[in-house]
Amino acid sequence: VKEITIVGGGLAGLSLGVCLRKQRIPVRLLESGVYPRHRVCGEFIAGVSEETLGCLGIDTFLEDAVRHEQMSWWMGDACALSEQTPSVALGISRYLLDQRLAEEFVRLGGTLELKSAVILEDARKEGWVWAAGKDKSATKSNKSWIGLKIHAVNVKAEDIEGLAMHSGQKGKKNGYLGLCPIENGRVNCCGLFEVQSEITPSQARKHWGKTTASKKVAMLMSYAEACGMTALLDWLGAHAFDDDSFSAIAGFNLGTQSVGHPFCIGDAAYLIPPFTGNGMSMALESSRIAAVALTNYSRGECDWEVAVRENRSDAKKFFAKRTTIAKMLHPLFFHPLGQMALKSVASSGFPSFQTLFKLLRTP
Ligand SMILES: Cc1cc2nc3c(=O)[nH]c(=O)nc-3n(C[C@H](O)[C@H](O)[C@H](O)COP(=O)(O)OP(=O)(O)OC[C@H]3O[C@@H](n4cnc5c(N)ncnc54)[C@H](O)[C@@H]3O)c2cc1C
Repeated sequence: VKEITIVGGGLAGLSLGVCLRKQRIPVRLLESGVYPRHRVCGEFIAGVSEETLGCLGIDTFLEDAVRHEQMSWWMGDACALSEQTPSVALGISRYLLDQRLAEEFVRLGGTLELKSAVILEDARKEGWVWAAGKDKSATKSNKSWIGLKIHAVNVKAEDIEGLAMHSGQKGKKNGYLGLCPIENGRVNCCGLFEVQSEITPSQARKHWGKTTASKKVAMLMSYAEACGMTALLDWLGAHAFDDDSFSAIAGFNLGTQSVGHPFCIGDAAYLIPPFTGNGMSMALESSRIAAVALTNYSRGECDWEVAVRENRSDAKKFFAKRTTIAKMLHPLFFHPLGQMALKSVASSGFPSFQTLFKLLRTP
């Protein structure tokens, strides 16, 4: 049996590692960071099937996640839509989930090497999988994005009902931010915005210093204000935050990633726009697809080139529908006319939010 080496221990790499270890395949996982740690992520999983979770062997790790069946969508200061989600969305922090998966991988006999940053050139080898997330060197698009996240703490149940998505647009400034209740009375606040060079941490702290005791939430507030999300500003100003949970990322492109590795999974292969997509589910689903080809390769049932080809074509087929729809919808959120169109579509009820939710989350 041949060893598989996985570069990157996010959701894709860890779930693949666990799945392969369950089949007694030797696996080495090289992760540049450590666990536990906070990540920029909306922290709700929606659409991945029970069967996929069971097949990966990770279903029990989501049993205590907060179950969401209600979702509201705010545009500026108005609630455009409030509906039941067609399937349960699971709220859990990446801090907790990644740690659990890493422990399970090690418990199953996987070799986990932390603080091991791998250079792409060293990873283009037989039996190596690239699961290192989005391509951070990407700067080719004319829009640059910033992702910001922080946990609100000690939030009372009556202060938030289910998932709340806020999108806003003021002049040329666009963005959206989701609130997702997770474990221990925390609410994850995570947004994606077009970068605005005038918003800096020191400027934001100065501006919001009297409104909030948190030094870190100020950046999210400045972006929310710039995009006209007034209802959200009230909510952010009224809650306490865990500054240690703050994280930020910038400098990436959405869509197909051109990492240049033959065997990519998760965000390293395709970065679906967060608002329209479900990157965590896709990371898990892509691990499941990859595990089939990698198991065949490891057991000598096919050579590496065949495994690479099969993984690519199976993933492409499986994700084709949702990546196409997400690509069409995403620009609408970032254009004034698109936002107006979405607003009237939402209020007319056609196509229903539930239909869109399903289309974006199923093969
Ligand atoms: C703003 C925002 C909000 C989001 N909200 C949601 C949401 O609510 N629901 C949802 O389903 N998805 C959401 N997503 C998407 C989701 O976070 C990702 O799709 C998911 O994390 C992908 O998992 P991954 O394992 O592919 O990558 P990652 O989770 O990014 O993991 C990659 C890992 O590789 C490691 N690594 C990187 N480079 C190297 C290297 N050179 N060597 C070794 N290790 C390396 C990193 O440290 C990291 O641990 C959101 C994304 C953004 C940007």
